[in-house]
Amino acid sequence: MSLKKVLTIAGSDTSAGAGMQADLKTFQEHDTYGMVALAAIVTMDPKTWSHNVTPLPLDLLDEQLNTAISIGPDAIKTGMLGSEEVIKRARQAYDESGSEIFVVDPVMVCKGDDEVLNPGNTDAMIKELLPKATVVTPNLFEAGQLSGLGKLTSIEDMKKAAEKIHDLGAENVVIKGGKALESDKAFDLFYDGKKHVLLSTDKFQSSYNHGAGCTFAAATTANLANGQSPEEAIKNAKAFVASAIKNGWKMNEFVGPVDHGASNRIEKIEVFTEEI
Ligand code: ADP
Repeated sequence: MSLKKVLTIAGSDTSAGAGMQADLKTFQEHDTYGMVALAAIVTMDPKTWSHNVTPLPLDLLDEQLNTAISIGPDAIKTGMLGSEEVIKRARQAYDESGSEIFVVDPVMVCKGDDEVLNPGNTDAMIKELLPKATVVTPNLFEAGQLSGLGKLTSIEDMKKAAEKIHDLGAENVVIKGGKALESDKAFDLFYDGKKHVLLSTDKFQSSYNHGAGCTFAAATTANLANGQSPEEAIKNAKAFVASAIKNGWKMNEFVGPVDHGASNRIEKIEVFTEEI
């Protein structure tokens, strides 16, 4: 049986815990054929780890998208896109691909950086990406921005935000309470327009979790490409990333990535679900 082809449109994290590196590692761990169209390259100052984001020229992105689409991806994921123009190109690429699986990780700021939020990008994600999203995977902050509800601090808030984001056209929404929600468990909320499901695992160390968000969305994409339902795909992605976080490691004094291979190599983590 041939592998499903999964394309990420994302940035390169040179430290390789997040971004397209996290996506490709995660796709590989899920027995899919990972492909990438690169939108930007992120480097870090070795002395301060401050991030420098360099967008690639748009015509080069277009060339990559043309190549990748000619190969016929079964699923497409978006990560850090960086500008309204790139967001539009990602949407066009999905439309042209004929793929029916589109996972939108609505990355708004490059983590570890003080980069200010660009509201134009949020509007473009709402207009271009959400109406086509099979699954959208905002964290608490991103869900507050997309829903217009601002700061979210409770599971009740997450439910309201998920409904708003669903109304914007996303078929399935999963809001990551994750590290930002104050609680003893790592909670995420799934909503498909009919039911709210709360997913939880134990909360593990949070010092070395760089790349958790990308890994979660990439695992969801691969699971969908492999035929799982959105709810199953998200539940299994959460188990996968929980193991990756539990086994995160210190890379240097600034950052520690998740271990993308931990779920297959070290241990599986149980995810609990409850309709709420
Ligand atoms: P992002 O990196 O986009 O802000 P998060 O790191 O909050 O996203 O979440 C990514 C996934 O990892 C979610 O499923 C979240 O619940 C989970 N997660 C985050 N922190 C922890 C933790 N300390 N222990 C277990 N799971 C976590």
